Amino acid sequence: MTYDAIIIGGGACGLMCAVQAGMRGRRTLVLERNDRPGAKILISGGGRCNYTNLYTSAANFISANPSFAQHALTQWTVADTIRFFEQNGISGKEKTLGQLFPISNKAKDVVDVFVKLIQEKHQQIRLNSKVISVVKMANGHFDVSYEYEGRIQRTSADSVVMACGGLPVAKLGASDFAMRTARQFGLDVVPTAPALVPLTITGKDASWFSALSGNSVYCRVYNERASFEENILFTHWGLSGPAILQLSSYWRPGESIVIDLLPNQAIDELIKRERQAGGARMVGQLLGDFYSRRLVESLGKFLPVATKIASLSKADARRIDDTIHRFTVTPAGDKGYDKAEVMRGGVATHELVPQTLEAKRVAGLYFGGEGVDVTGWLGGYNFQWAWASGYAIAQHI
Ligand SMILES: Cc1cc2nc3c(=O)[nH]c(=O)nc-3n(C[C@H](O)[C@H](O)[C@H](O)COP(=O)(O)OP(=O)(O)OC[C@H]3O[C@@H](n4cnc5c(N)ncnc54)[C@H](O)[C@@H]3O)c2cc1C
Repeated sequence: MTYDAIIIGGGACGLMCAVQAGMRGRRTLVLERNDRPGAKILISGGGRCNYTNLYTSAANFISANPSFAQHALTQWTVADTIRFFEQNGISGKEKTLGQLFPISNKAKDVVDVFVKLIQEKHQQIRLNSKVISVVKMANGHFDVSYEYEGRIQRTSADSVVMACGGLPVAKLGASDFAMRTARQFGLDVVPTAPALVPLTITGKDASWFSALSGNSVYCRVYNERASFEENILFTHWGLSGPAILQLSSYWRPGESIVIDLLPNQAIDELIKRERQAGGARMVGQLLGDFYSRRLVESLGKFLPVATKIASLSKADARRIDDTIHRFTVTPAGDKGYDKAEVMRGGVATHELVPQTLEAKRVAGLYFGGEGVDVTGWLGGYNFQWAWASGYAIAQHI
């Protein structure tokens, strides 16, 4: 059996690439190390799969070259994603902030679309097949070796698509194979790190945070690179929740982040109004208008929660303003690749042709999806990149 392309990885990018290549009459072989395709799609979005975001633009991606992703994202747009899934029986519903989920709430429906189309378009997928090497032969073909049932198998093709994802969640098949292969061919790789990942707090502040475990607060979380307004979640080991996950992609070890615990109101204005009304309420009662009893009690470590607003000193008022609007935290670290939704960094975009994602220096070698230095925000952007890059590659193999 000969193939036009071997696609390494049967995840979001590889599956879309195989289906789209099939629509062009090409023959591909997908090699996937897991015993089923789309393992990450299945658990994504809490098993519901947030498969795109209505407001996707290049601004929702982190990369050394922020405009790189745009080339694939304009070839395969959000409208294309929506139409593709609708034509295959999946209607979307927007949950929040443009995030689209299947109306059935079942990620499995998304994977089933690809399984069906791969069959219909006569593409091959071989499971339990872990690729161990990609070699370019003197005749220009690629020789691909993989382990299958304890034996080494070999196959070859004109093109190879590295769609084997990034490092997050090893038990779902994650590997560094895309980056390793890039380096083997002399291509630059932007250093990788966990992204969309919870942050840990250790040391003297740890018990303050763990006492609040389970509390969720709507906040603005920011540093000098980015700012996000969504919920944060206190946990036994630190901070999580969408706003923290978003900012984690812009955080570097050792740095602080700032939390505005009341993003849309000014606490000094609220105190002024209370004073005008006599100031009989206590600071804790005012804070209780916005936060759980547990959070108000915990804020008592920093603020005079049992003081009447009428008798607050100027210094106290300033401390309240600082604590509520500029609560500064220095995380000890992050929860690592096994708790990260994506990876930052990857194969350097300057090594790839933006329209085709082919390596400029290795004809026939393509990189798509998470292995490339294009990292989306939380909210369906990463799948949109995986579909779009898979589609763009499929137009050229
Ligand atoms: C818990 C969680 C929830 C998420 N939820 C969402 C969401 O709702 N919306 C969203 O947009 N994004 C979400 N993401 C991110 C999204 O899943 C990824 O960005 C996306 O799957 C990347 O697609 P990919 O094809 O590049 O990689 P993957 O989907 O990871 O596919 C790569 C495949 O390659 C295989 N592979 C690796 N090495 C080899 C090898 N050597 N040989 C053979 N096969 C190999 C792997 O087993 C894997 O199946 C989530 C991620 C996680 C971890």
